[in-house]
Amino acid sequence: MESTESDFKRFIFILIDGVPHEIFKALIENGDLPNIKKYVVDQGSLNKAVSVFPSTTGPAFIPFFMGVYPGTANLPGIRWLSKSNFQNPHRFKRPGICSYMGIDGLSFEADVPSNFKTLFNFFSSVSNIYNPVICGCPPSKDLTGSIKPFIYTYAHFSHRWRFVNQIAVRHLHKAAEAGDQFIMCLFPAVDTFSHLTAIQSPQVLRTYREIDTAIGHLVHILQKANTLQETLILITSDHGMTDTHTHIDIPQHLDDGGWRCLHYPKIWRQGAVSASMVSGNGMTHLYFKNSSAEKGWGERTPFEKLYQMGVIGALIELEGVGLVAGQSETGDIIVQSRGGQGRISCHSQDTDLEKPQSVATTFKCADALRFSYQFTGTDPLGYGVHYKNLSSRKALRETYESPYPDGIVQLWQVFKSERTGDLVLSAESGYDLRARYEVPEHHTTHGGLIAEHMHIPLVTNYPIAEQYIRSVDVFPTVLNLCGHNISEQYIDGRVVR
Ligand SMILES: [Zn+2]
Repeated sequence: MESTESDFKRFIFILIDGVPHEIFKALIENGDLPNIKKYVVDQGSLNKAVSVFPSTTGPAFIPFFMGVYPGTANLPGIRWLSKSNFQNPHRFKRPGICSYMGIDGLSFEADVPSNFKTLFNFFSSVSNIYNPVICGCPPSKDLTGSIKPFIYTYAHFSHRWRFVNQIAVRHLHKAAEAGDQFIMCLFPAVDTFSHLTAIQSPQVLRTYREIDTAIGHLVHILQKANTLQETLILITSDHGMTDTHTHIDIPQHLDDGGWRCLHYPKIWRQGAVSASMVSGNGMTHLYFKNSSAEKGWGERTPFEKLYQMGVIGALIELEGVGLVAGQSETGDIIVQSRGGQGRISCHSQDTDLEKPQSVATTFKCADALRFSYQFTGTDPLGYGVHYKNLSSRKALRETYESPYPDGIVQLWQVFKSERTGDLVLSAESGYDLRARYEVPEHHTTHGGLIAEHMHIPLVTNYPIAEQYIRSVDVFPTVLNLCGHNISEQYIDGRVVR
């Protein structure tokens, strides 16, 4: 990778969990975030980027740190089931079913693949605050590592998320004073307060302003140390968010249809033949037990078989279910809405274009792939165009401003993971896919493939002119700006300028 003229020596990465691009842009334009505007946006740019599917904390962090999709990293949700490894939950063994919520978040850190280099590997002195992707970060530099489970649990029950952010601010400023080369700081409170209230509640807006004040102080620290010019500051989010008016009880509907359903926390149910593993509550993975399976629940059940079983028809009739996607017997991805059906196929550019590749097993540089998309009836993804042999970049550009941004590539990548469901559901705006056992009740939703969940702000104090950016592009772009070379590593992203 060529180096840039403006090699930055330091990198400060601020990740504000759960910030919709539209809201952030309006706050900047209205002068509500004066420090971020003056010291970051006005020195560089505020872009609209696209996150990944599922658009949820955890899986959506992977792209920033490793440059790959959640499907590539085999982390397709905050809850998942591995059909081939599933057994009845066992106290001492990993049972092939997982939720990263609460204290189980620790197993997320263990599941992040260790064969990828992360941002931490490229800088000599680093600090990490709250972020769960800690591969490459020395344990002593994971500043909140030992306290995070306790303060997150405390905040979960007491709703004192402001206190959690305040600890982050203190660590951020201290690490900046210490001169660390790379500082990663996650602010969780916009997401958690939004879930408790609404995406623009007074509590959420106050949190934005507090983060802005913290950034102002951070810049003063850098100015005092005379290192502002050599520091790349990047502020972004893992996903957007929508207000929720209706919870859809997917497990209840599956039970009623005769497909007795496992779901958190009821993962000990006897005689279950299906499972719903929900993420951000705007998406869920659905798994169906293959009766002939010798081990676990068998292989992925093809879309066609589930269609014959009546599962697809029963789900898509539910008000608020926007998309039901699955994998065809041919390896293609099929996406169904009430009005029509779409088919995504992916071929390698340099081999026989007519020969489909197994999406579940393909592991190639995404740039060598070509995507086609066709639909019957009303286009479920709302593009209204049949596409043939698009590059991944072209597929991004063509769908950027649509109701399902980057839907072609995002649906393809999620099915690369063995842990992805037979079916993947994405809810419409205003709905989520979990009606019971969510304490406290969630009043906002993310996780889906809709634009409000997928579009995120990308703010840098160095101008990025490119208009079509994925979160997987941040990793190579940042390393390029800091003069590092990553050419030997597989990534799904590319450098944007
Ligand atoms: Zn959330």
